[in-house]
Amino acid sequence: MKPDTLLTHMGRKSPYYSGTVNPPPFRASTVTFDTLADLEAAQGDHLNSFYYGRIGTPTTMALEEAVAAIEGGERTIAVPSGLAAIAGTLAALTEPGDHILVSDSVYGPTRTFCQDVLRKNGVTIEYFHPLLGDELQVLFKPNTRLVFCETPGSLTFEMQDIPAIAKVAHERGALVVADDTWASPIFFRPFEKGVDVSIQAATKYIVGHSDAMLGTITTNEELFHKIKTSIVKFGYSVGSEEAYLGLRGLRTLAARMKMHEANALKVAHWLQQREEVHAVLHPALPEHPGHAIFERDFLGSSGLFGLILEPFTEEAMRVMIDGLELFSQGFSWGGFESLILYTTPGITRTTHVWNAEGPTLRLHIGLEDPDDLIADLAAGFERLNAMMY
Ligand SMILES: *Cc1c(COP(=O)(O)O)cnc(C)c1O
Repeated sequence: MKPDTLLTHMGRKSPYYSGTVNPPPFRASTVTFDTLADLEAAQGDHLNSFYYGRIGTPTTMALEEAVAAIEGGERTIAVPSGLAAIAGTLAALTEPGDHILVSDSVYGPTRTFCQDVLRKNGVTIEYFHPLLGDELQVLFKPNTRLVFCETPGSLTFEMQDIPAIAKVAHERGALVVADDTWASPIFFRPFEKGVDVSIQAATKYIVGHSDAMLGTITTNEELFHKIKTSIVKFGYSVGSEEAYLGLRGLRTLAARMKMHEANALKVAHWLQQREEVHAVLHPALPEHPGHAIFERDFLGSSGLFGLILEPFTEEAMRVMIDGLELFSQGFSWGGFESLILYTTPGITRTTHVWNAEGPTLRLHIGLEDPDDLIADLAAGFERLNAMMY
């Protein structure tokens, strides 16, 4: 089945649902069994059966089945947030004494988890420049367990060469874990590019309406077992409403992604023509340094990209963004609404200096009419210029 068909049909067929189109949110803590034999049977297969509310319900399992199919992996684990997916995966796959390689442009809280939790657990973390591909081999040690990637990079949108990274990692017996939230499962096929574990902050495009926190970990059967066993020990549990909203979001994911893509490209092209703009950090633009990798590895682009202004003062930039009417300022993108965020990537980069010519912004282009968004930004540039001249 093609992706659009999978999105419509997966996770819907179960004797539990009595023919309803949508799997209902199963609210459950205890699951009762008629006999000890029934209880023992469920216990023996507790990672796959409806055994205890914390471990999974028919609603979370429906979501997991659907996400696994659309990601192209064997199994998915639903967790309470994108960060829980990252933390749960890294905790499950590392042990004291291990060394891991982490891209320097990962999502900030991923880095904080590495610094404040993994390090304390005896794992050595080495950050690498996001543009390293084959060259990454010199950083491997005998105890390098995994490479953590995120492409395009958080805030700065560098494209990583995942197939090259996967080749070096696999030759050395290391795994590749990738945060694939930017493209959603619609525009990137992680397992065809060599990724072993694909993470989605489902809070973003999968839920798609800015009203639930959710994460997914998708992988093969063997790693599923290892990661799920660990997740169960931590007690991470997904609420049934959240799983329901994730499933509901999936049904329209492809339609929304195509609209985010088209709207964002229209706004990005307009921004490229503006003299207030130093650079548009959008990998689908031919001028982007990672465009060749984008063309080779991705099926499309999402609504999120960066912008470096000319050297306007921070004060002028504040007046510009504070006066926007259609763009709100907020962190969690991927909903139907447009967002703008002033970002400071320089403070977290350690393998290179991020020294932008002017203020750096991140835009999420929603499902509004892009002409209205452009008019809002144009008025913003007028405010910006009025502050300067
Ligand atoms: C938002 C985000 C996360 C974290 O997701 P939450 O659901 O907010 O915990 C992880 N990775 C990326 C790339 C994100 O944008």
